[in-house]
Amino acid sequence: MSQRIQLHKLVQQAERLGRRHPIRSQHAQLARIYDSINRAVFSGTLQRPRIRLSSSREFWGEIEVGYRGHRQGPRHTLCMRFARQFPSMKTMINTVAHEMVHQWEWERNNNLTHGQAFYAWNDRLANRGLRL
Ligand SMILES: [Zn+2]
Repeated sequence: MSQRIQLHKLVQQAERLGRRHPIRSQHAQLARIYDSINRAVFSGTLQRPRIRLSSSREFWGEIEVGYRGHRQGPRHTLCMRFARQFPSMKTMINTVAHEMVHQWEWERNNNLTHGQAFYAWNDRLANRGLRL
């Protein structure tokens, strides 16, 4: 199990490291960041999807929705992919938060766009020192 860490401590740590401190992705750390944001921003209501590292240089984070048929109606599976390296820990945390807002918007509002509903999260995240 990943160790519990409070979001504000992660954000403080990221701010101490600064913007020019590249960081390699580790699955356990991404999961820790996810869980911290989940507790602080989403009251722990999101379910952490499978997290994968990607060698793509085209994105820092990506959410993938898969569908599978089911008698009780269509169900989906989620997967989050993250870059193997980030320019800073701050970028890593913000990227996880970004994908989590996608997850929330997808699961609650069937929305996967960068529209108004997505950016309405900016204020809630800014209160925690995060940026979409
Ligand atoms: Zn996005």
